[in-house]
Amino acid sequence: MRGANTYLGSIGTTIFTVMSALATEHGSINLGQGFPDTEGPADVVKAAADALKDGRNQYPPMPGVPELRKAVAAANKRFYGLDIDGMTEVTVTSGATEAITACLMAVLDPGDEVVLIEPLYDTYVPVVRMLGAIPRIVRLTPPHWELPRDALAAAFGPKTKAILFNSPMNPCSKVFTADELAFIAGLVERHDTYAICDEVYEHLIFDGLKHIPLMTLPGMRERTMRIGSAGKTFSLTGWKVGYVTAGAALTPLVQKAHQNLTFTTAPNLQRAVAVGLGKDDAYFASLARDLQDRRDLLAKGLASVGFSVLPSHGSYFVTTDFAPLGFNGDDVAFCRHITEKAGVTAIPVSAFYDDPDAPRHYARFAFCKRPEVLEEAIARLKRHFGH
Ligand code: GLN
Repeated sequence: MRGANTYLGSIGTTIFTVMSALATEHGSINLGQGFPDTEGPADVVKAAADALKDGRNQYPPMPGVPELRKAVAAANKRFYGLDIDGMTEVTVTSGATEAITACLMAVLDPGDEVVLIEPLYDTYVPVVRMLGAIPRIVRLTPPHWELPRDALAAAFGPKTKAILFNSPMNPCSKVFTADELAFIAGLVERHDTYAICDEVYEHLIFDGLKHIPLMTLPGMRERTMRIGSAGKTFSLTGWKVGYVTAGAALTPLVQKAHQNLTFTTAPNLQRAVAVGLGKDDAYFASLARDLQDRRDLLAKGLASVGFSVLPSHGSYFVTTDFAPLGFNGDDVAFCRHITEKAGVTAIPVSAFYDDPDAPRHYARFAFCKRPEVLEEAIARLKRHFGH
């Protein structure tokens, strides 16, 4: 039989699926794939259940139900002071994963270049390549993950169509500063490009830091596509409801991409997410505070096991350097080893690099779990590493 798609034939199954399957096989505590182990807010779940029973179960409007588009616009105003028209500037997608693809499709032609920042979320490079575009990757270096401004400026050129980046950032939990964002905005404007901003962890931010959407910076309103995820904001990752906020000129293109990807998203979930986005400020504050406590618990515990724990300012994750434990092997071997022998699963950070010479002594642990689960994971690692 003739070969099918060459590129897909050349890549592996996503690390999140691989490690979750391994965790299940070995009955280990899964601190790999990032998902909470408790339900999201009861009122939001109830709104979804109720919405199933009121006779609106046929295809919702392609761009999203009006309730949710308006709620996304209102949240943009409430949290960031952005004036957004929900009916012309918001698109609801089936998760941020679809949103990322739709935004890339909205602006890229084959041969265009896209600036990406490594470590990067695992769908970015495959989607850019499948669209016939060319990734130009700039690397952040641990432990501080500072933006290498000269390298970033050098990555922009005449063929650059867009930059795609993530803040707060998975896996390294960096939150881009106002100064770094201003630098990026300068490049975007100077090179007349677009910015795709993966802001799925916008509300999962710690230590009193504030999330700043690039879209709020001068000159960025019409150039930016800002992506959110109900999965993260409401701890309901299985729902796969995402949203894109973009200018009125770009939005029809995002929607034409969406109409050719999934066309629409389950109506009851959309309506429930609209209820969620209307929750009071206390909900959003306690979401971040609660996760910050869990970050502290896990970071302290991993340090007591002997890991060198890197700072985490947002997202679900803490990155650790396992070199001090004296393990003889790379990060993939390490994550497999602790799954099989210690009963705790993590994600090898090299999975977030496109480059074979990625760093190979970092492992990412998720802290979006119940405290007793985190404590048991720490106890298992301590037992295994002999402290
Ligand atoms: N974003 C999640 C993580 O980084 C995984 C999502 C997925 O499995 N597709 O763990």
